[in-house]
Amino acid sequence: MNCYIHVPFCLSKCGYCAFFSEVCHDREIHRQYLDHLDKQLKSAALPIFDTLYVGGGTPSAFDLPEMQQFLDILQHSLKFSPGAERSIEANPETLTPEKVDLLRRYFTRISIGIQSFDVQLRSNIGRQCSEAALKNALDLIQTAEFPHWNVDLIYSLPGQNTGMWERDLRTAASCGADHISCYSLTPEHDAVMGDAFAEDDEQEAVMFDMAERILREYNIERYEISNYAHPGCECRHNLNVWQGQKLYGFGPSAADFDGKVRHIEPASLELWLQNAAPETDVIPWTERLNEIFAVNLRTVAGWHKEMWERIPGADLWENRLGMAEKLQKIYPGALNISPERIKLSGTGLLYWNDIAQEIL
Ligand code: SF4
Repeated sequence: MNCYIHVPFCLSKCGYCAFFSEVCHDREIHRQYLDHLDKQLKSAALPIFDTLYVGGGTPSAFDLPEMQQFLDILQHSLKFSPGAERSIEANPETLTPEKVDLLRRYFTRISIGIQSFDVQLRSNIGRQCSEAALKNALDLIQTAEFPHWNVDLIYSLPGQNTGMWERDLRTAASCGADHISCYSLTPEHDAVMGDAFAEDDEQEAVMFDMAERILREYNIERYEISNYAHPGCECRHNLNVWQGQKLYGFGPSAADFDGKVRHIEPASLELWLQNAAPETDVIPWTERLNEIFAVNLRTVAGWHKEMWERIPGADLWENRLGMAEKLQKIYPGALNISPERIKLSGTGLLYWNDIAQEIL
């Protein structure tokens, strides 16, 4: 069982970001968020969790006493199975030795939003993190010895060439992280910089291939379109969610999924604090199955017959094989199909968006 908690505060808004977050330094609003989260967790009938993912926003934007209160709230309400994975996202400019020490005591995994080691490229997309803050954050994480840690990178950035991308990949792979996420910059209508970024499909494809080739030199393997890890260090929370497992979600804009229906909390701090009802996403079961099928095709391993049959109410594996054969006719070479497994090829992963649309 999996739990996601959304912390909606950021120090500033990055130009490309379409996640729900608010630039808020008001301690009173932070207190209201923490109190409301505490109430919601205490009043929910919660199972024992195998994974927790705290994302945002910038969860590490809390100051030290707030972070202590946040952890006290989690500690009081959440129970975990032995060996559970507990992840939190952090931005380099928010980390202090005391905060990292606190996070290390509760979380088994930290994910650092670096995006690029090049200060000019970071500034081009509105990331306000100095060289000194970045170096300090890396030193702190390396010293804290989290069991697992991730570096987030973005490619296809304005002003970025393949040499710069290679430097980012090699720096990330050499800094001790066992997991690297590489996302291509996508223009988002809702973002501050909106459509200011032009998409360059050709450059994106070149950089996508470079990521796999270069990170492999460091024994960091692609296991999902945008995610790479040392074998055994994959993010279990994300793997579980991609496979359509149940998810409890808390905080504004958080989604939860009971195996059939998805509920999405309001993407507004004000409405969430007022207990506004979540949006309910009910779709026919066949469509939900198609959605689950498409999402896990993002992973390099794709679907194994047994894995598919473990989904309560799943249709026949033979139906999925038939669907895969049809997709193969539309996108030749995009799938690897055997009686027991359906997965996308390297090229297929690059065209996942189109393939998913076809499935849905
Ligand atoms: S990318 Fe992250 S840090 Fe930047 S505004 Fe979005 S949530 Fe905040």
